[in-house]
Amino acid sequence: SIDFKWIRDNKEAVALNARNRKSVANVELVVELYEQLCNLQTEVESLRAERNVVANRMKQKLDPSEREKLIAEGKHLKDNLVALEEDLAQLTDKLQREAQSIPNSTHPDVPIGGEDAASLRKMVGTKCEFDFPVKDHVDLGQELDLFDFDAAAEVSGTKFYYLKNEAVLLEIGLINWALSELVKRGYTPLSTPDIVRSSVLEKCGFQPRALNTQVYSIEGTDQCLAGTAEIPVGGMYMDQIIDDSLLPLKFVAFSHCFRTEAGAAGYATRGLYRVHQFSKVEMFIICRPEDSDSFHEELISIEESLFSSLGLHFKTLDMPSEDLGAPAYRKYDVEAWMPGLGRYGEISSSSNCTDYQSRRLNIRYRPAIEESNPSTVVKPKKRKGQLKFVHTLNATACAVPRMIISILENFQQEDGSIIIPEVLQPFMGGVKVISPK
Ligand code: AMP
Repeated sequence: SIDFKWIRDNKEAVALNARNRKSVANVELVVELYEQLCNLQTEVESLRAERNVVANRMKQKLDPSEREKLIAEGKHLKDNLVALEEDLAQLTDKLQREAQSIPNSTHPDVPIGGEDAASLRKMVGTKCEFDFPVKDHVDLGQELDLFDFDAAAEVSGTKFYYLKNEAVLLEIGLINWALSELVKRGYTPLSTPDIVRSSVLEKCGFQPRALNTQVYSIEGTDQCLAGTAEIPVGGMYMDQIIDDSLLPLKFVAFSHCFRTEAGAAGYATRGLYRVHQFSKVEMFIICRPEDSDSFHEELISIEESLFSSLGLHFKTLDMPSEDLGAPAYRKYDVEAWMPGLGRYGEISSSSNCTDYQSRRLNIRYRPAIEESNPSTVVKPKKRKGQLKFVHTLNATACAVPRMIISILENFQQEDGSIIIPEVLQPFMGGVKVISPK
């Protein structure tokens, strides 16, 4: 549940936060609707109380005329109540929809502003030097027979692709490598449904009904294609109270991701950079609120160690307020150098969503509170505390297409062959080099 009382009591700060994040949220309207809802609730409650008084009086001995009067009064109250309850349901729905776009609060260290305000966290490695003209992944793939974009355009549409030959081994190898690295670190592997209910998607902070939505909806149903495993993984715990002793829950999920890419910038339309469907391995953590900042650091350091072990050159950025979307409290992106494209490209993203998703998905836990009493020798008792919302975090371990771009473009040789990073070779049946046929 969204904390509307908190939003009302902190209206100015909430509105400033929304402006800093370039959000379309109308905080003023949300507060207005919430106040209307409170008034209506009071009215409904007082009508219910009146109706109970009438019902109790009806149980007493009454003369016929008095009984008739009471019956008429009861009917009148009931009709009014039905109408008001209908208004209440409509207003609640409107408030929920309007509040959907109010963004999470923002970590105090997040730089305020647009893309250029991103602050550099870490730079790893250096640009590789080539003493021959570099090619981009599309030309490399063409010569090595790794992709078929033309057939995919005929069969599915633009921004789809077939992977062929070693590119298929590379996809499966990357997925297996990322899963095994995360399982080693104690994350539970999952393979998730690709179709999710629109309501779950909304509760995770995505907006399937918005203009320019990134979400594919399935006509005639209330379902969508998931854009990321974050949705089915978060949804797994919807409406649950998690035992305190089970926290943190750490998952690594394999899924397919589907994105309309509506309104996507014109650049990088070539090849695999921005496509409608791709495979991804995603990390997801459910934890106690006090632990989420440190788990965010854990997630980014896992990403950094994964990409370093592949031998990529990349930078890690603390993303600015305008780039956070609605659910993230703080977001770190990793951008890898892609020599063929001649620029850095985002390969992963990790977000601390604090209680933004858990409030909407209703995921709670009951913290165990240890009571200590220094004045007695009695052993401290464990008492159950009040229910609290958990925090959720998500981070990309391996989004396949941009990993393929990075590997092809960075490890290309003069003869057009590609050297496979050593850590991936065991996951590709021992393939060390992709050579021209
Ligand atoms: P996001 O869930 O939007 O943070 O994206 C996670 C990662 O998925 C990005 O860092 C990219 O590596 C990858 N990605 C996102 N959108 C696309 C796309 N349309 N095509 C290919 N890869 C994508």
